[in-house]
Amino acid sequence: MTLPANGQTVLVVGGGPAGLRAAVDLIGLGIKVVLVEKRHELGGAPIRWRYKTLAPELRPTEEVMAPLISAIEASPLVTIHKSSLVQRLDGQAGDFRAHIGGEGGRATMADVQAVVVSTGFEHFDASRDPRYEYGRAPNVIGIHELEGMLTDGKVVRHDGRTPKKMAFVFCVGSRDRATNSWCCTICCGVSIKQAMEVKELLKDVEIYMIYIDIRTFGLWENLYWNSMEQHGINYIRGRVSQVFDTGSQLLIKGEDTLVRGPFEVLMDMVVLSVGVDPGEGTAQAAKAIGLATNPFGFLQPKHPNVHFDSAREGIYLA
Ligand SMILES: Cc1cc2nc3c(=O)[nH]c(=O)nc-3n(C[C@H](O)[C@H](O)[C@H](O)COP(=O)(O)OP(=O)(O)OC[C@H]3O[C@@H](n4cnc5c(N)ncnc54)[C@H](O)[C@@H]3O)c2cc1C
Ligand code: SF4
Repeated sequence: MTLPANGQTVLVVGGGPAGLRAAVDLIGLGIKVVLVEKRHELGGAPIRWRYKTLAPELRPTEEVMAPLISAIEASPLVTIHKSSLVQRLDGQAGDFRAHIGGEGGRATMADVQAVVVSTGFEHFDASRDPRYEYGRAPNVIGIHELEGMLTDGKVVRHDGRTPKKMAFVFCVGSRDRATNSWCCTICCGVSIKQAMEVKELLKDVEIYMIYIDIRTFGLWENLYWNSMEQHGINYIRGRVSQVFDTGSQLLIKGEDTLVRGPFEVLMDMVVLSVGVDPGEGTAQAAKAIGLATNPFGFLQPKHPNVHFDSAREGIYLA
């Protein structure tokens, strides 16, 4: 249902799933939207990294994202600025002026009454943690890279061979005081979803999930049970201390925290369940718009447990 336009305009910063959803809901209320996206395309992480399906329903990414993107691109109520950044935001709630900078130094002004900031995340760069050999051993990849392989229907090693043994290492760049101390909350579920998709593609592959503990919330918990009962995925509770590239395989050394002893396993491919970082985009938006960030760099909500209001009136977080 589209209500008559009421003359209000909202600036949405970031055109990923959160920003698109906010924009679609706003135009549904007849509110105009100015959408600023720093990349050349809308869709955020699922489009950029070519996710195959979206959990927990396991619907194809295209099926979920395409209607949102086309609703925004087709709407006369939306002005889209791709490859653009908000450079400054003046004024106050109900009367903001945004300075938007685009490619080639092109500058635009937009008068808006409220702002939604939805700048999302970046995947943790696992080369920051030398234990995992990411960026050096070609058969060590991240879950974001595996999504693209699954979408192509081709999960292979660097030498083109199909892996026979594959391990997912959980909590890379998460729950680790040497890198990021927080739990990213999504990579358990995403990794389990991917393991099942790999198993459907490569029937003979053995898959091992090396985890601290499994954090699948809500409906995602069903993925965990299905992965064991229907797909034969194996789980090892433990911590990985080091991945070594032997040339032909990857040797994972660690500690099994159930049997309380060291383990060593040889794998053909290792997938790192990398966590999330706030990313440069969030830092840029926070600075330009005048929003506080927490000590980890994520946008700081006004109230610690309510993640929608920023501390600046008229500016909301999504
Ligand atoms: C490998 C992987 C698989 C996943 N699979 C699933 C799944 O199956 N199901 C599920 O529900 N979730 C999944 N997730 C989580 C999902 O990707 C996120 O929940 C979702 O992308 C968050 O949407 P968002 O719009 O907040 O952020 P993002 O997707 O990160 O989008 C943010 C957008 O803002 C833009 N931006 C950033 N900074 C600026 C700036 N300063 N100015 C303008 N634009 C800016 C970015 O370019 C981007 O387009 C997965 C995550 C990973 C890592
Ligand atoms: S892998 Fe699981 S437990 Fe580890 S950080 Fe991600 S969601 Fe949290």
